Amino acid sequence: MSEAQENKRVEDNKVISMDYELTVDGEVVDSSKESGPIDFLQGHGNIIPGLESEIYGMEVDETREITVAAKDAYGEMDPARLIDIPKSEFPPEIELKPGLELQLRDRNGEILYARVDTIGEESVKLDFNHPLAGKDLHFKVTIVGIRDATDEEMAHGHAHG
Ligand code: ZN
Repeated sequence: MSEAQENKRVEDNKVISMDYELTVDGEVVDSSKESGPIDFLQGHGNIIPGLESEIYGMEVDETREITVAAKDAYGEMDPARLIDIPKSEFPPEIELKPGLELQLRDRNGEILYARVDTIGEESVKLDFNHPLAGKDLHFKVTIVGIRDATDEEMAHGHAHG
């Protein structure tokens, strides 16, 4: 095997370029089709752990279908992150409906993302869980490039574009 070929398997400290398609509940929710492949430094937690652990040994042009359980992806649904907010706290111009995505600011000015879960008489239940919490993720991934990381990338722990 030539040196060039030995370099072409997914292993730690390589920069991997990967196309992906993410299906959740039978629906494609994300893909690299338009944005182009993602680059990441393998073995440094740049991508979700359940996906990173399943691509070791893959070669360029290889495609694999990988299912990542919720607990290895964005975690289980946390009921403590469903919070009732009085309707009076919402500006009147917002048309509240289930599924509506909102950006809020906490006391420290940090931006929080939430979705309207249900609307009651006096209050609105907001869901602060990650949209993919509690979901199993079905990935179809294709490795499109593998290269050595630069010293700078190794020092930073991520890939540079
Ligand atoms: Zn950097």
